[in-house]
Amino acid sequence: MRIRGIVRASAHLRQAHFSSSAAVPRTKLFINGQFVDSETSEWIDVHNPATNEVIGIVPQATQSEMEAAVNACQRTFPAWSETSILNRQQIFLRYQQLIKDNLKEVARLITLEQGKTLADAEGDVFRGLQVVEHACSVTSLMLGETLSSLTKDMDTFTFRLPLGVCAGIAPFNFPAMIPLWMFPMAMVCGNTYLMKPSERVPGATMFLVQLLQDAGVPDGTINIIHGQHAAVNFICDHPAIRAISFVGSNQAGEYIYDRGSRNGKRVQSNMGAKNHGVVMPDANKENTLNQLVGAAFGAAGQRCMALSTAVLVGEAKQWLPELVEKAKKLQVNAGDQPGADLGPLISPAAKDRVCSLVESGVREGATLLLDGRDVNVKGFENGNFVGPTILANVQPHMTCYKEEIFGPVLVILEADTLDDALKIVNSNPYGNGTAIFTTNGATARKYTHLVDVGQVGVNVPIPVPLPMFSFTGSRASFRGDTNFYGKQGVHFYTQLKTVTSQWKEEDSTLTSPAVVMPT
Ligand code: NAD
Repeated sequence: MRIRGIVRASAHLRQAHFSSSAAVPRTKLFINGQFVDSETSEWIDVHNPATNEVIGIVPQATQSEMEAAVNACQRTFPAWSETSILNRQQIFLRYQQLIKDNLKEVARLITLEQGKTLADAEGDVFRGLQVVEHACSVTSLMLGETLSSLTKDMDTFTFRLPLGVCAGIAPFNFPAMIPLWMFPMAMVCGNTYLMKPSERVPGATMFLVQLLQDAGVPDGTINIIHGQHAAVNFICDHPAIRAISFVGSNQAGEYIYDRGSRNGKRVQSNMGAKNHGVVMPDANKENTLNQLVGAAFGAAGQRCMALSTAVLVGEAKQWLPELVEKAKKLQVNAGDQPGADLGPLISPAAKDRVCSLVESGVREGATLLLDGRDVNVKGFENGNFVGPTILANVQPHMTCYKEEIFGPVLVILEADTLDDALKIVNSNPYGNGTAIFTTNGATARKYTHLVDVGQVGVNVPIPVPLPMFSFTGSRASFRGDTNFYGKQGVHFYTQLKTVTSQWKEEDSTLTSPAVVMPT
């Protein structure tokens, strides 16, 4: 019965995303356990970034639809939070298996709507799946603390309890992984959830929620709304919503942090980045250059942890020609084509923005060593493709250095010493990720200790922590005080209740009122 549900959903989604009929497929809302048609008159186009064909439309949910979704979350919270933790754990154990079983299908939807290569899309689902697997350890993660005999016959213990209704707002670049950072952690802890996927890539979330329903979550405990600003404002303002998880740009993330926290909610905002790879002259050259190229251009640079800036120290400056040669060899193609290393950017506007930032670099005095702006992808001439692009001699005051480019563009700065490199990295406002490439342990240690960035790789270009840790971007890349997933994620989605109890022996009954503060 359950399996039939999945097959039906999969067929429905296939139809929804691949039909080329004149009537464009419409993405549904998910409210109270039902996929429902929106009654809105405002719709947003979803494109295949490799062709720019419209492959579906997404509703801007109406006020009453959003109310219905949050009401379902509110109504189901008492029963869901009282469901035994072992039952919730069992549901998520089934969920992780269903995601594994359907991983390729979800990846295919990601490639279609987001553009990344199929292999990379599978990685997107897999990294989200790992969070679900970790969520299944909830029985350990939610343990409280106890202390016995604080005073005579008195013990204190804490419970970690769910908050209530929580909400998530996701970006376009990881259509599976980032939603999976959000609702599984929240729900396994006993919260109910309102999810707003990116309006540009709704398909993966819709599929993942169908799988969650098939895993056995009660109707109404997870609800999906679609939209842009009105949906975001609704989430920031609704009094029933206790916590908001946001991942996306600084513009949206700062706004949501401010508006949500002004309304008394917990907010965690993971935002933009400018990640530096510091290349020491003693590094393993072949390894380092391959890692740099992979981390700068993979996913067309549309990763918040893309290594978009290289700082070449001392003699490492001589490696530029080899770096360019390696980058040239990457194949730019539609994500579902064999051999593709990087796919298109998400939209024509994103392509224009990337191209104009490259142009600004040239205008401001950088050297364009590799120009991917006119890349021609046979059979996909209307796609938003930009090939690997390398700007050298970049200075910190240049626009191409100050702005997050979010495209396949590597900007290169030079430094004479490790200290100079550290100064550059620490002067940049972002603190999402960084890497150092070296064979010297003391150099690596100095860098990891002195760099003011939340996630550091030593010979690891994209140091995204696995879910038993947390995603710890810092400075301008993060607002809030509790991070995503891992123990931090559990803390974000729970609150403590502390119980102090005293069970006295009969013969030690108080003989008079205790009016003084107990000490
Ligand atoms: P985005 O900010 O445009 O969109 C993210 C979400 O916010 C979407 O659901 C969108 O509907 C909503 N939104 C967009 N603009 C808004 C506005 N002005 N007011 C209110 N809501 C708004 O981000 P994106 O383009 O989808 O994603 C790319 C950005 O996300 C990059 O900056 C990237 O670095 C960042 N990102 C960060 C992380 C991280 O963990 N630090 C991870 C992935 C992506």
